Amino acid sequence: MRIGLGEDIHRLVPNRDLFLGGVKIPFENGLLGHSDADCVLHAVMDAILGALAKGDIGVYFPPNDPAYDGADSKLLLKEVVAIMKKEGYRIGNIDVLVTAEAPKLNPYRDAIQTSIAGLLETKKENVGLQLMTNEGLDALGHGEAIAAKAIVLLEECE
Ligand code: MG
Repeated sequence: MRIGLGEDIHRLVPNRDLFLGGVKIPFENGLLGHSDADCVLHAVMDAILGALAKGDIGVYFPPNDPAYDGADSKLLLKEVVAIMKKEGYRIGNIDVLVTAEAPKLNPYRDAIQTSIAGLLETKKENVGLQLMTNEGLDALGHGEAIAAKAIVLLEECE
């Protein structure tokens, strides 16, 4: 078994679509980034790569590489899942924590869990999702950004 931790934050800005966990969420602002800026999937990817001691997503998908301009993070995660499988591991379970003052994400909990489970080729029961606010404190609490953390346990495939 191997354990890994991932973390990400992106700034919320107007005129961008908001993607969290591979789900498009209706909101007046979206996350700014080189790819679609899905901080949830980025934290998930870094947790898996960290568990494999394979660095982080910056190694595989450099932010200055135009190939990843507006990239769909779901496709990037599929590449990371392929690396995990090639190394002989599968998801044991993963716990994901999202900090967003707005929008309220509870209505999307099921969709986000289902999306992450599908991308990770695991059961929804293996995907924990904690939805937090920052209690109005700091940049997250002022709605200037959304952040995510993920911790993953990988099991060796027989
Ligand atoms: Mg990111």
